[in-house]
Amino acid sequence: MSGSIRIIGTGPGNLSWCAPGAISALEKSTVIVGYQTYLDQIAELCPQTPRYGNGMRREVERAKKAIAFAREGHQVAVVSGGDAGIYGMAGLVLELLCLDDTAIEVEVLPGITALTAAAALLGAPLMSDFAAISLSDYLVPSETIFRRLRAAALADFAICLYNPTSARRRGIFETACSILIETLGEARPVGLVRAAFRPAQSVQIGLLSELSRMELGMDSIVIVGNSATKIARGRMISSRGYRLTENSANF
Ligand code: SAH
Repeated sequence: MSGSIRIIGTGPGNLSWCAPGAISALEKSTVIVGYQTYLDQIAELCPQTPRYGNGMRREVERAKKAIAFAREGHQVAVVSGGDAGIYGMAGLVLELLCLDDTAIEVEVLPGITALTAAAALLGAPLMSDFAAISLSDYLVPSETIFRRLRAAALADFAICLYNPTSARRRGIFETACSILIETLGEARPVGLVRAAFRPAQSVQIGLLSELSRMELGMDSIVIVGNSATKIARGRMISSRGYRLTENSANF
């Protein structure tokens, strides 16, 4: 049997938010490849299936290993947290396969990404146009990150900040907070979600002026509202502009 690769997003953490299609693809696989933390999150799924895991920043090695397994005839599942096509493994595996002359069947399966998980916990902050920006300067220069952030803020997008901080690069987050305050003012609603749909989950809603003092880490995502975002009854809501009165033309 010829080998194949399925690139699978496993959702925000808890298996009940991993799509049924992703689970059946995992069950059909003969080897599972992934970042060790994500493999641990799916530990109880198909425990008999062999796994190949490694650490952070070893994505290229992991993707090459997946391709090598497929060449040997394995049905390979490559797992990424959230959605594999959003700061995940999908692009890298597809790019490497383009360099490869063997025909390996490949499929990308969607998952619930951190921004949809966090938005649901915060209320409805992404009802209108929004942008996702990663504050990690591992593969993108910090000047590019700041240029995109300023542009998104000026364009009145709600903004989701992935990878907001790590122990190594707190400075980028602090500069990002200053750029946002400069462009949007201090009173813009923000939401911070840590460990969405995992046991350590926490959800906080506040103002941009408070963001730089909020406690956040690698397991956190920040959503900054747009000009139509309000905080009401403990939720962040970005209004789409529907008329809400009884005689509204929308009913
Ligand atoms: N492919 C993933 C993103 C990987 S980048 C996805 O689609 O969600 C890693 C970043 O995603 C983290 O630093 C954090 O900002 C965010 N993230 C991933 N899972 C999260 C969760 N359960 N809760 C909050 N943020 C999360």
